[in-house]
Amino acid sequence: MLPEFELLMPRTLAEALAMLADYALDVLPVAGATNLIPDMRGGRRCPRYVVNIASLPELQGIRQEDGHLVIGAAVTVAEVLDDPRIARMMPVLRDAAAVLASPLVRNRATVVGNLANASPAADMAPPLLALDAEVELASTGGVRRVALKDFFVDVRRTVCQPHELVTAVRVPLPGFGSRSAFYKIGLRNADAIAVVNGAVRVDLDEGGVCRTARIALGAVAPTPIRAYEAERALEGQVLTPEGIAEAARRAAEATRPIDDIRGAAAYRRYVAGVIVRRMLEGVGSKE
Ligand SMILES: Cc1cc2nc3c(=O)[nH]c(=O)nc-3n(C[C@H](O)[C@H](O)[C@H](O)COP(=O)(O)OP(=O)(O)OC[C@H]3O[C@@H](n4cnc5c(N)ncnc54)[C@H](O)[C@@H]3O)c2cc1C
Repeated sequence: MLPEFELLMPRTLAEALAMLADYALDVLPVAGATNLIPDMRGGRRCPRYVVNIASLPELQGIRQEDGHLVIGAAVTVAEVLDDPRIARMMPVLRDAAAVLASPLVRNRATVVGNLANASPAADMAPPLLALDAEVELASTGGVRRVALKDFFVDVRRTVCQPHELVTAVRVPLPGFGSRSAFYKIGLRNADAIAVVNGAVRVDLDEGGVCRTARIALGAVAPTPIRAYEAERALEGQVLTPEGIAEAARRAAEATRPIDDIRGAAAYRRYVAGVIVRRMLEGVGSKE
């Protein structure tokens, strides 16, 4: 049963931040509610006050600004899927959006809610980690930005404080020669939480040398992770089968998976290496 709570409907971001500051000990923001309502029904979260941020004008839309795409906190996964700039410049984000839940859920679920919820299996986290995204946090005290790699603290915990709101995720526009890929393994092809998911990005120069490598994995540790040692195996190198195999081995080594109803820890570690290899082979072979 849904516990009793008071729904607050701010009209502006300033009003929402004031509400979070006033009720900081017993309040949660809600956007699409696709995580929060099931959590409240299941007794995992019981806030006295819920602040609905879905209609705030300041949090709507995707805009291009200072070499970034800025995705507002009210932007749904379906909007990401429909955005031609994302399809053109960040197909890895589009690919992840396409396999998050079902069309019904995607119409309500927000990208920022997916990150703020901090599930280790969140589908938007690996591509945004691979793209070096950062989140913008606002409170009545001001605004701060945190690199997404530093945002997740533990299972369902982030650096976002109770009086703060994530207002946007900022994604640097990939440069020429940047290639990326996303991969998700679920127990079925659609509407499934990831058993393992991951994304890679490589920025190659004219000679095919990898200048920057990003490898991110989900559902293999308490938080979505970057596989830093695996990235180092690629940077400064031309992508070869041997280099890719080494990076995949290091990526599997970076995982700290658990056994649960969706998969065994040993399986997760193994397929983490497999999907990293496949993604790197894919980006390495693109024209
Ligand atoms: C049937 C079903 C299938 C699903 N399948 C998938 C799937 O395949 N992949 C996947 O990754 N997820 C899946 N989910 C989970 C969920 O849909 C996503 O995580 C979604 O993106 C959450 O966004 P939301 O806007 O609904 O978040 P909400 O439920 O509104 O919020 C989630 C949490 O984040 C907090 N929060 C929300 N916005 C902010 C903000 N701006 N600042 C600070 N805190 C905030 C809330 O307080 C809450 O604790 C599924 C859920 C359902 C019900």
